Amino acid sequence: MTSFLLPCGCGVDISVTSSQAGGLATCPACGREEPVPRLRDLGKLRAAAAPRGKGDVGASRRWTGMHTLVLAGSLLAATAGLLSLSFTPPEVEMFDDATIRSSAMRAPTDEVYSAWATRLVHASVDRPPTEMEAKSKARSDYYHTLRNGLRTAAAVGALAALAGGLGVLFSARKVDGR
Ligand SMILES: [Zn+2]
Repeated sequence: MTSFLLPCGCGVDISVTSSQAGGLATCPACGREEPVPRLRDLGKLRAAAAPRGKGDVGASRRWTGMHTLVLAGSLLAATAGLLSLSFTPPEVEMFDDATIRSSAMRAPTDEVYSAWATRLVHASVDRPPTEMEAKSKARSDYYHTLRNGLRTAAAVGALAALAGGLGVLFSARKVDGR
């Protein structure tokens, strides 16, 4: 907290902080109680850290590296932020239609299918599955569900065995300890 110097009638400066604003400060030299200015007038006092003879410029008003950082950061944020809003990056221009299609024709079917299943299915090329695909999906889903069920059962079993094992170990130790 910045300390300010409140001049006492005896000629001594009383060091006060903003928490004392509007109250009374006791002079360490003469013991007199001096009224401390309110918070908004406190800055008019000399700051305790400010070298004497530098007038009324308080320490808190001096320009520091931190101030420079704040100013430079604010300017950069405002300028770069506004500039980034001022344009839209152009879309990448893809190869021509014929090139893409002939490449797709040459690509292995599984890669084409993978691209279709992962990306294209979300684009406008979605189509209802064929009867064969629907059957295959139902079969796959069935076995996925079955495997998940078995994994859950295995996990439950392992946890039960672990809990039982710990219980056995614990009661065995109790017996030994007797
Ligand atoms: Zn005094």
